[in-house]
Amino acid sequence: MTQDHETQGPVVVYVMGYGRSGSTLLDTILNNHPSVTSVGEVANLPDWVSREHPCACGALLESCTFWGPVLDRYRRAMGSEALEELERCQTRVERAPLYRRSDAVSQRYGELTNALFHAIRKVSGSTVIVDSSKSSRRAIGRPYALTAHAGLDLRPIFLRRDGRGVMWSGMRGAGSPEWESSRLPRSLIGLRTLLAWVYTNRRCERVIRGLSHSALPLWYEDLVSDTEAQLRRLGAFLDLDLSGVAQRIGRGEALAVAHNVSGNRLRYQRQVRIQPDREWESHLPMLHRWAYRLAPYRRPAPRSEGSTEGWKGPSSRHPAGSSS
Ligand SMILES: [Zn+2]
Repeated sequence: MTQDHETQGPVVVYVMGYGRSGSTLLDTILNNHPSVTSVGEVANLPDWVSREHPCACGALLESCTFWGPVLDRYRRAMGSEALEELERCQTRVERAPLYRRSDAVSQRYGELTNALFHAIRKVSGSTVIVDSSKSSRRAIGRPYALTAHAGLDLRPIFLRRDGRGVMWSGMRGAGSPEWESSRLPRSLIGLRTLLAWVYTNRRCERVIRGLSHSALPLWYEDLVSDTEAQLRRLGAFLDLDLSGVAQRIGRGEALAVAHNVSGNRLRYQRQVRIQPDREWESHLPMLHRWAYRLAPYRRPAPRSEGSTEGWKGPSSRHPAGSSS
């Protein structure tokens, strides 16, 4: 990234896709570049502050050494109720199918959101901010809204993981400890997770078609098994030299987790090592393997979308769900 002037807005890397797909690993990798700060699922910031959930560092967000100054600066610029107002605007503007609407609420959303990213940029000193809010139903339109309403310079990454790994992650209860409350039997949790994964990925493809910037497709399996090559792709897409981070991962070094808001429980470890999680291969029941074979969305054959440039959602060249 070439922006370095104090007053310029940050470049925002947006991690789209379903949860349980490795976004905490991805944002930790990016956070270890000196120009980058990862903030986790920042769409949940207002909710997280009001419910007094902790930052990944363990402190309450209001007293965290990073978020405390960000929130101070933000409220001084936008008013003491800015976070509450932002949450109301997000509810109206980022959900499907309303996110394309342009009105007074979306305009105010734009001002409040832009100011928050400027406060993050100022406190972090970083020119690149990674927002891993992903694509839950509440935030499906967020990447569109961040560009169209908040005027941010967005680099979308469409992160996916093989649906069988995602199902198993749901069944074993991995993920964010704050959201776990389902009382369904495990096999139903798996099937429900698969349906949500299919739905979310299809919705993401639609959102990507409406974005002004191409999205980079990235699969978790490639990221953890061929990290160096995938970081070269990422680096080319983001205009960042990630070779230093790739070398550290190659040496087996642990990477420091940022002051993430919400996300996978991994973030509380403060350090993560990049290693593949292939537990589903030996644990996923046959029923769920069959369900995946029948699902209308699957992982394309390897190498069918290795190019960094010009990818804008599924096309005849890169049909995202068409391979077996
Ligand atoms: Zn913190």
